[in-house]
Amino acid sequence: MPELPEVETVRAGLAQHLVRAKVSSIAISDARSLKRNVAGVQGFVDELTGSTLQAVVRRGKFLWLPLSGERALVGHLGMSGQILVRTPDFAPDPQTRVVIYVETEAGEPLEIRFVDQRLFGGLMIDDLAPTPDGLGAGFSPEAEAASVIPTTVAHIARDLLDPHFDAEAVAVKMTKKNSAIKRVLLDQNLLSGIGNIYADESLWLAKLHYDKPASSISKKKHLELIEIAAEVLRKAVAKGGTSFDEQYKNVNGESGYFSQSLNAYGMTGLPCKRCGMPIKREAWANRGSHFCPKCQKR
Ligand SMILES: [Zn+2]
Repeated sequence: MPELPEVETVRAGLAQHLVRAKVSSIAISDARSLKRNVAGVQGFVDELTGSTLQAVVRRGKFLWLPLSGERALVGHLGMSGQILVRTPDFAPDPQTRVVIYVETEAGEPLEIRFVDQRLFGGLMIDDLAPTPDGLGAGFSPEAEAASVIPTTVAHIARDLLDPHFDAEAVAVKMTKKNSAIKRVLLDQNLLSGIGNIYADESLWLAKLHYDKPASSISKKKHLELIEIAAEVLRKAVAKGGTSFDEQYKNVNGESGYFSQSLNAYGMTGLPCKRCGMPIKREAWANRGSHFCPKCQKR
């Protein structure tokens, strides 16, 4: 499932092509990829056609492209979604659900293809509402994000790469949680963007057992974990993300190669790179947790 580095790689790829691009037309071959569009398929097409994409902003695993000061096209990759940017002569991509035809600022025609095998991802047009703290809403290094956020994303906490992420405040909240530290890392309402892969990697680097109650960890250690996790995310972005299950691709349809840098996730039975003890996988919350039984004691 795509996490922050994968979604950021897609965001950066889209931003390269789509800032100030104008939507010419739209083709929808599977309306199930349009989520929560109150105006229906026709409303989606009518509103998007002719509009100009202003920027590409990300918070956690959500992306949005403001169409105006009040509305935005929102995208989520779900489990298997891909957003590909193709030239019109590029061969069709299997499982393309929606195509948005655009003309870039330079006048080049391009196709944004929303591809999704399992249909957990989707696109929608949503209202933009002011952020509660009045600060820029998300990550958009090309231009400071406006202080408005899609209503469907508003409940998602700022992520670790967000310029307005408040590590100190989040660390204090973490010390008050009685649940397992991994569950806290995955809580998108506390800090966003981290899923199973980067949680396991961050905990391995911090030498913390996934099931250790967050309230038993000091604020100082939480701050250290936050810094470690941010660094893991930055490194993964630099490598284009992790294509562990071959579902995730960047906008050019290419895999990321951070999987070569993994220390814990998916390394079951292989020696820990610190101490040599085999990495263990335990079933946890409908998925698995990978950890070193020697370096990460509960
Ligand atoms: Zn170890």
